[in-house]
Amino acid sequence: MGFELTRDERQRLGYQLIDRINDFFESLPTRNVQLPANERTFSPLAEPMPELGDDATRVLDDLTTELIDRGFHVPAANYFGLMNPTPTYMAVLAEALVSALNPQLASLARSQLASKIENETVRWIGERVGWNSAFDGTFTSGGNEANFSGLALALAHHFPDAIENGVASIGAQPVVYCSAEAHHSLDKSVGLLGLGRKALRRIPINDRIQLDPEKLVKEIDNDRSAGYKPFCVVATAGTTNSGAVDDISALADICEKHNLWLHLDGAYGAAAIFSDKHRDLVRGIERTDSVTIDPHKWLAMPFAAGVILTRHPQALRDAFEVSTPYMPKLANAAMTDNFKVSTQWSRRMNSLKVYLTLKVHGRAAYEELIDRQLQLAKVAADWFEQSDLFELAVPQVLPILNFRLKGVPEQDLAAAHTRIVEEVTRDGQRWISPTMVNGRSVLRMMIISYLTTEEHIRDLQQALVSAARTLPATARS
Ligand SMILES: *Cc1c(COP(=O)(O)O)cnc(C)c1O
Repeated sequence: MGFELTRDERQRLGYQLIDRINDFFESLPTRNVQLPANERTFSPLAEPMPELGDDATRVLDDLTTELIDRGFHVPAANYFGLMNPTPTYMAVLAEALVSALNPQLASLARSQLASKIENETVRWIGERVGWNSAFDGTFTSGGNEANFSGLALALAHHFPDAIENGVASIGAQPVVYCSAEAHHSLDKSVGLLGLGRKALRRIPINDRIQLDPEKLVKEIDNDRSAGYKPFCVVATAGTTNSGAVDDISALADICEKHNLWLHLDGAYGAAAIFSDKHRDLVRGIERTDSVTIDPHKWLAMPFAAGVILTRHPQALRDAFEVSTPYMPKLANAAMTDNFKVSTQWSRRMNSLKVYLTLKVHGRAAYEELIDRQLQLAKVAADWFEQSDLFELAVPQVLPILNFRLKGVPEQDLAAAHTRIVEEVTRDGQRWISPTMVNGRSVLRMMIISYLTTEEHIRDLQQALVSAARTLPATARS
């Protein structure tokens, strides 16, 4: 009883766990992503809460075995899935250290060096954006919170009275623009900000899956004539479906002309700023007012790590600052308490894993990662372009590929794609997914693990070919 363990017990349990984690990492290049289809179950666990504990060694061993043997493994090299990566090992170690030290990042007085490290990490990332004036930012739980924060900043900047008096005091309906393919965290955000979900105007996309600037201008004009108050445009760098990047410069021109806040949802794609060679992918990012970037996507961090950055530091204070009698104050502090610039109060140190990874591997490791994954994506794109069975559905920009079966009538495509995904993922070895882009069914694969090599991609191509051959001949005319 009680939580204390002896020094020896702590050591033994710690070594036991780190050995398992080490073996897990060793297995990732060849590990199956999940169980075979006939062994997967999705029913809830039903054990009662343990009244008395059990032997730590056995519990830890059983639980680790169960999680590793029966889990779904996003970090596997054969996970061609959504945007979540294999964590760096330094990040895994940083997470253990953060839990042990448990710094309270809400206030400087109780976190000191941890807060300095967090601020420095924010500065390192913000400097890569390339703004030519002061900027500030804060870590978030992810892109959802970062996008919410970005819209809150835009709202506070354009309608400062609404911070105290609410959006009703604005006297007209404020509206926000994004592309038809923008992330659905934006719908949540406008709803939670009290604007209502209809305040999010989804603008049609062009054939490169980018927000169409001309249609945006028309919609802004229409909205203004109808008495609405446009205040913000959200550009996307790396749509979830296709990895498309909006024309940030064109949107910046429009925002300047129409006095609108430009937020960039770069949860995945904004990480291109870590590459000197490829930062052109997000050309114009230095003209935005705020940026969302998720280290737990392209920067190979485990959950959770998002960042919101802005070149309007005052807007962060306006949107989030409150004063309290109980939070410890530091006279003459050169830094801000985090609770004054964030939706969060008590907060975890989500920055140490980024910081430690950068200290050990340097930005150069990201330069190399981004370059290598873009090259692998090119190899995959070339293969689709030469395939008899499949074709690219959307031009490849970031390491995400949207493709479809060739020669299948449109009305049969979604069902055929479902079959392909079932076939390819049945044995659990690898993972791809179906989705809809611009109303049309596509298959999707993404190169997101730093462990994925050309060999993994060739294996996947083999699996795709075999899957396509299982389709009844009638499906392909
Ligand atoms: C992943 C993603 C989000 C949401 O971020 P979370 O970290 O999952 O909260 C928002 N926008 C885009 C473009 C994304 O890819």
